[in-house]
This record gives sequence, C-alpha cells and structure tokens, in this order.
Amino acid sequence: MKTKILPEQGRDFEAVLDELKTFGENDPDYKTARTWSLVYYLGEEHAEFLNRAGAMYASANGLNPMAFKSLKRFETEVIRMTADILSGDDDACGILTSGGTESCLLAVKTYRDMARKKRRVRYPEMILPSSAHVAWEKGAQYFGVKPVRIPVDEGFRADVEKVRKAVNKNTVMILGSAPGYPHGVVDPISELGEIALEKNIPLHVDACVGGYLLPFVEQLGYPVPPFDFRVPGVTSISADTHKYGYSAKGASVILYRNMDIMEHQIFVSTEWPGGIFASPGLLGTRPGSSIAAAWAAMQAMGKDGYTSHAEKIMSTTATLIKGVNAIEGLQVLGRPEMSLFAYRSVEKKLGIYAVGDQMEKRGWHIDRQQKPECLHAMVTPMHQAVTDQYLTDLAGSVAYVRANPKLSAQGGAATYGMVSKVPFRKMVKKNVLEMMREMYGPRGQALNLGDRDSKSRGWADRLGRLFLRFGS
Ligand SMILES: *Cc1c(COP(=O)(O)O)cnc(C)c1O
Repeated sequence: MKTKILPEQGRDFEAVLDELKTFGENDPDYKTARTWSLVYYLGEEHAEFLNRAGAMYASANGLNPMAFKSLKRFETEVIRMTADILSGDDDACGILTSGGTESCLLAVKTYRDMARKKRRVRYPEMILPSSAHVAWEKGAQYFGVKPVRIPVDEGFRADVEKVRKAVNKNTVMILGSAPGYPHGVVDPISELGEIALEKNIPLHVDACVGGYLLPFVEQLGYPVPPFDFRVPGVTSISADTHKYGYSAKGASVILYRNMDIMEHQIFVSTEWPGGIFASPGLLGTRPGSSIAAAWAAMQAMGKDGYTSHAEKIMSTTATLIKGVNAIEGLQVLGRPEMSLFAYRSVEKKLGIYAVGDQMEKRGWHIDRQQKPECLHAMVTPMHQAVTDQYLTDLAGSVAYVRANPKLSAQGGAATYGMVSKVPFRKMVKKNVLEMMREMYGPRGQALNLGDRDSKSRGWADRLGRLFLRFGS
C-alpha cells in the first residue's frame, strides 16, 4: 500500500484528494440516513457551509486567547448562546471543548479538585447512575475518582433513594443525564437537585446529547422534566454542539453556574521555561476550525432552525416508537423524552441481536446494547424520509428471525449474545484489550469487521463488532 510509508516525493493535491475520496467508499452511508448513531448530518448544503466556516480558521489556534481574538470571541458567544438556551444567568460561564468526552472529563477533574481544596477529600467518589455515558467511567479512571454505580428504576431513570443513600463525606459529585444515551430517558434532575442542595454536593447534568434539543422540544410543548439551571441544585451542564447543535465534529460546551466552581478546572503553571502558562481545558492547541464552525452553526441555525428540526425529529421519533411497539415481539424500553430509544424482544425465541443482523443485511447500521439486550436508535431530521422503510424492514427482519430461530445462535447474534452474557467480565476486558493492541499496534489498521466468517481472527475480532457499536 502506497500510503503506508511517507512518499519520497510529495504528491499532487488532486491525486491525494482523489485517493481520500475512494477510502471513504465503504464508510457507513449516513448521507442517505442508513446510520442510527455517530452522525448528525443535515445534508450537503449545511455540511458545505460548516466546511467553509471551519476552513477560514483552520490554521488559527485557540490555545492563547490573547492571540486569536476572533476565536476567543466565537467561544465567548457560543458559551453565551448555550447558557441562554439552558437558562443560565449572567454568572454562568464555561468553555468550548473538543467534544462530549472532554466536557465530562473536565467536570470530574473540577469537582475532584474542588472537594480536595474545600473539604480536604482524599479518597474522592462520584455517584454514577448505570445509564450514565461511558465517558464518566473514563473520567473516574483517569482522575482517580471511585465510581459509585447506582441502578436505574424500571423506567431506566436514576434511582433517587439509592443516590441519596450513596452520598457520603467522600462524594465529590452526583451525575444525572438529560437524557441518558442508552435509553433516551431524562433522569429525575429536580429530585437529584434536592439531594445535591441538602448535602451540599455538586450536581452535573450530562446534556451532551440533549443540550441543543431538549430546550426546543420543551418550547414545542412536549413534556420535558426540568433539567437545566432552573433546577437549583444543578452546578454544571455539558452540551455537545457537534451533536444536535449541528456544528462540525470537535465541539462541545461545559457550563458552570458560576466562576467559583469553574475556577477549579483551570490549570496554571508558573515554572515552564516557555513562559507562564494557563489553560482552561484539556487541550493545548485548540483547533480554530471547530470553534469557528460551532459559532457559525449556531448563528445559521437560530432558535427557529433548532425548533423546526426538533419538530421534525419528535414527530419522526413518535412514528418510529409507535411503529416498533406495533411489531409483535418488540417493545421500546421506558418512555423516551427525546430522540433516542432502545427496543428489545419480549419473545423468548426471538433474538434481538439476530433481528439486528437482519437489519444490517438490509443496509441499516444499528447499535447493539446490553443489560438488557436491545437495539438502539438515535433519530435525526434526515430519518424522516426513511421511517417507513425502516419499519417495513424491521417487521420483515422480525418475521425472518421468527421463521428461522437458529439465527439467534449464529453469526453476529451469537457473538453479541455470548459477550453480553459472559459472567467473567475480566475475560471480556482482556479480549477487548487484545483487540485494541492489534488495531493500534505497528501493523494496526481497521479490522475487517464485516467479515464475520473469518475464523482466523478469533475472539478479539468478533468482539470488535460489538464493542465498536457502543457509543454515540
Ligand atoms: C455523546 C455523549 C457523550 C460523549 O460525547 P463525545 O462527543 O462522543 O465525546 C457523553 N454523554 C452523553 C450523554 C452523550 O450522548
């Protein structure tokens, strides 16, 4: 392969661009709305607009806010606009980050350091409902905070009484999601807020996926439980501009109720030979392109744009949920407030992962989830046009699996089923780690995960399919 080593002589721009294009040919077909995660695409015109906005500032660096005043201004305005839709007052403050994960990691770091400084907490713990995004586990691991996991109730919402009982003198933060990614339901933020106030513990609301959609869903008159700064105990909120904010990838916001809290996020070093250094987030160099595109997306969208997209999303989701529930053997989990939902099989012999396999055969990219085993959908405005096709294919897939019950023990379904049931999670972890070593090792390249019949690749490879389908 030519591109494996650096070419002796640089190549023509056009030749390189042509080759880039061919590499994407086998990527998931998001432009025709065949994907149900990962991409929040609104069509070529919008994509082109974001590209132009980003390109103008692609070389600019947001590292030093005194240098590129343009970028600082975009950031400040994105923060103000976001604080406005999430009911922050004039004290609300925050930064633009590289994505939801950075926003989550920063909150963990902030609250750990705040508890250390104000309460001398040495063995920090955080309260995490099981529906919390995996980024919070990552934050707990990275920053040495013990995750105290709380189950969800039968509606997939954080169990408030269990949260209350879990708070102790080492608790540095409580987490609630609005909504949680796996089931799309909003945690009881008001109740969590009461606990937070009563015990004087920070409450972060992970609105990474809901932050730019729920406010407009509420405006439309749908029932949305209070989740933003209107809830007194909420101390911070994360919202991903690169999800339903429809900006280019690489943009999220973390907002704090006030600077006394956010201060604990800021890094200052006075000893570096390169100079006195201060930084508000995880990154050093911060890409001007995603900062500019975030600002541009919000300006172009406006409240009316976000609202009309929200309307489309909500009616499409309602049609889908109704349609899925109308298929015998399937059931949507809980009562999703927004645009994400999951559904499981309620028929013993109908393997939901086998249904997923059949949907893939029909050209859809669908995430598998576990605990309980279910399939997932994240709805965007582009899905309106494919809703009927999706439901027809789903009914067809269910009928096919029902007529061929052996499918539930074959192919992808077998792997997912096995992995989700294996009691030895350490073994699963070891195998996933092995897969990561292969992918990122010196010979590393994307495993051909579509090749299910390959025996030579073994566990790690097959696991990859399940593993890579988690997330957003
Ligand atoms: C997407 C998401 C995240 C992580 O965001 P990334 O941009 O993928 O890093 C965190 N929490 C929730 C609820 C999300 O939906």
